[in-house]
Amino acid sequence: MSKKLWKRAPKEHSQSLRHAMQMAFLALNVWIGIQFYLFVRYYETGGGSLLVARPPGVEGWLPIASLMNLKVLLATGGIPKLHPAGMFLLIAFLAMSWIFRKSFCGWLCPVGTASEYLWRLGRKIFRRNFRLPRRADIALRSLKYILLALFLYAVGSMSVPAIHAFLEGPYGIVDDVKMLNFFRLLGLTGGVVMAMLILASVFIQNFWCRYLCPYGALMGLVSLASPLRIRRNPSLCIDCGKCAKACPSALPMDRLITIESAECTGCMQCVAACPAADALFLSAPRRRRVPGWVMAAGVATLFLGVCGWAQWSGNWNTNLPSRIYFELVPHANEFSHP
Ligand code: SF4
Ligand code: SF4
Repeated sequence: MSKKLWKRAPKEHSQSLRHAMQMAFLALNVWIGIQFYLFVRYYETGGGSLLVARPPGVEGWLPIASLMNLKVLLATGGIPKLHPAGMFLLIAFLAMSWIFRKSFCGWLCPVGTASEYLWRLGRKIFRRNFRLPRRADIALRSLKYILLALFLYAVGSMSVPAIHAFLEGPYGIVDDVKMLNFFRLLGLTGGVVMAMLILASVFIQNFWCRYLCPYGALMGLVSLASPLRIRRNPSLCIDCGKCAKACPSALPMDRLITIESAECTGCMQCVAACPAADALFLSAPRRRRVPGWVMAAGVATLFLGVCGWAQWSGNWNTNLPSRIYFELVPHANEFSHP
């Protein structure tokens, strides 16, 4: 199409909605983190500090326990009693990926949000982000799938009684406290690794998500079944390349007709960057356009719907007597992996 004839795309609102959802989810996680810290301090001090109820949402940070519980649910039909919230969160995120591509990563995940702000900072400082050579990029991208395969194998090879024994033992009960302690008592090695990851994320877009996150790898594989695709209309495209430049997953949608990749997070940054009307859009079957607000509403509905149902049906909380927390929380780091 002649550049003289192309029609400018109307203003697109997906990114303001996406940033608002990312911020809301980040704030929710900070709130959960503070509540959980106060909960742990209460039991560490023998009841000498403010009593705060354990926030079940902290289990969203326990992906392996959540996978184990999901296996128990699938194998027995029974809803687990310990850390069920993590399982429901995993179910909500898997459902999002199945319907709305890898939207958990692009619209909600606090680590994804932090990664995004880090590469934006890098772009501000260096006026660009860096990309690894193609071969290194492909080799490194396989790491997250290898990690995922290891976790799936470990959980898949455990029997239901073995999972119960693991989760109901001291290690399983306080694995959330151990996770908090890991970050609170970060040693030299852990600190250096964290600093390297942060630095790499400033230079390379979504370094952690792209190369190392097994949770994102799982979401990406599920997203291959999503009915939604980024679709380009070559007859309206003016070949400006702005979409590919805007894509944090480095996908070449300026050269393709549809994006099928497991790396696509459905973030719609490419759609927002496209200047030509109707040249690029998020498409449902039969080429129906999916606006940003549908994506935002769908992700929010799945999250609130699944978590709301678990709360309403009384399956959200881990109900353990305080006595157990008084016994285990102060000694969390003494329990090693069974
Ligand atoms: S193709 Fe578009 S929607 Fe998919 S990750 Fe890239 S910018 Fe986001
Ligand atoms: S942003 Fe991409 S789809 Fe839109 S006109 Fe430019 S090259 Fe074509």
